[in-house]
Amino acid sequence: MSDVRVRFPPSPTGFIHVGNIRSALFNWAFARHHGGTFVLRVEDTDLARNTDEGYDSILDSLRWMGLDWDEGPEVGGPYGPYRQSERFDVYADVASRLREAGEAYDCFCTTEEVDARRKASGSKVQGYDGHCRELSAEQRAAFEAEGRTPVLRLRMPDEPIDFDDLVRGTVTFQAKDVPDFALLRANGAPLYTLVNPVDDAMMKITHVLRGEDLLSSTPRQIALYRALERIGVGQGVPEFGHLPIVMGEGNKRLSKRDAGSGLAEWVDAGYLPEGLINYLALLGWGIAEDRDVFTLEEMVEAFDIRRVNPNPARFDRKKLAAINAAHMRRLSVDEITSRALPFLQRAGVVGDPMSPGDAQLLEQAMPLVAERINTLGEAPDLLAFLFVDEADFTLDPVDAERLLDADGLRVVDAAYTALEAVETWSTDAIQEALQAALVNGLGLKPRVAFGPVRVAVTGKRVSPPLFESLELLGRARGLARLDAARTRA
Ligand code: GLU
Ligand code: ZN
Repeated sequence: MSDVRVRFPPSPTGFIHVGNIRSALFNWAFARHHGGTFVLRVEDTDLARNTDEGYDSILDSLRWMGLDWDEGPEVGGPYGPYRQSERFDVYADVASRLREAGEAYDCFCTTEEVDARRKASGSKVQGYDGHCRELSAEQRAAFEAEGRTPVLRLRMPDEPIDFDDLVRGTVTFQAKDVPDFALLRANGAPLYTLVNPVDDAMMKITHVLRGEDLLSSTPRQIALYRALERIGVGQGVPEFGHLPIVMGEGNKRLSKRDAGSGLAEWVDAGYLPEGLINYLALLGWGIAEDRDVFTLEEMVEAFDIRRVNPNPARFDRKKLAAINAAHMRRLSVDEITSRALPFLQRAGVVGDPMSPGDAQLLEQAMPLVAERINTLGEAPDLLAFLFVDEADFTLDPVDAERLLDADGLRVVDAAYTALEAVETWSTDAIQEALQAALVNGLGLKPRVAFGPVRVAVTGKRVSPPLFESLELLGRARGLARLDAARTRA
């Protein structure tokens, strides 16, 4: 193992966002490429906002994507616990060591007082002014006598902070733009600004790869890693790479409110992990100019954080659909069958467990649809007509209206007569009989001839191939559906 250690530190406050999963993927690929360690750390110090569902969805999502973690919840590791809610004593200890060393100080100001001072001085600098940096014992005692409880602030350096971002190159922040910031609330609760770098330091994180939205917190964190190193915690500043913003519709950042921004939507729609991973990789990275379909293994092999593009990436549903379809085409029919099964069961198309009859029919039917579906979620709709109880079979009202008009019904009638005469019920015999009766006999173009028959037999205008479908449906059911259609009022 190399000493590369990266982390994915989600907060379990809601459903998991695709931008978050993109960060997980890039960290994971970076760790695997370098033979390093991928740490999952759950940032659940905000007890009021965490949910069990949020926690489960993080673990489930990573598992679904196939991104395994080397250290973290459920697997443990040498720097645990990996849920921040179990580390409050660690943060309290580090905070008091920072205070004792003079790296951080108590601040008794209210927000109103800070604002009032800014107005009075005419300063344009936002944030805290360092007022409590050098309180005397008397000043302290006076504040305490008023019943004030302090927040703890980090003493920021007076020099600019710069770093070489692995994605964006040199980034510089001026000292005046990064004021002393709070590490602990007045009630002693540790803030994200403290716990995130403390854990990076204690967990020996070497590289922080995360979204560009967090770039503005990086100078504060760098100052804190340095202060921590001075008090003997960690080993200084990790390297940073800020991944490009993910844009949604209309030049705005993809937000949690946007359709498609949650991973669960894609999982439920029957997208493949392979497809989603490949697409998320393209949000900032590419394997080659002329190639956009690849596997996770290929990504790991080729991944180079320095080749991530800093420009905003657009979340493009059409592109995602196309990439997913390309991965569907790479799967065998058997693989598609087993992956589509839960979708078929949830839709009630086949039983759970499947009866032997359903299993056999599914095995015969899947080759007809595997090539045609772009997501697993499309399978139930295409296959339902084969599995449905005859009494429950219905025609799509819109398709029936359009295709089973007077002309359509004459076509269905002719199809019934032709198929009734077929002796061996096979795809070839069915095709021959329908071709002879409708195309040659009635002189219809194939599309006009077979459309009404398709609606009568499958219930829909879009279905698996007609002749094969009729064969699978069997003679009795096929003829009964044609008969029902031609005699419909
Ligand atoms: N818990 C933070 C978040 O989910 C972590 C940010 C980071 O990667 O440092 O936004
Ligand atoms: Zn103050």
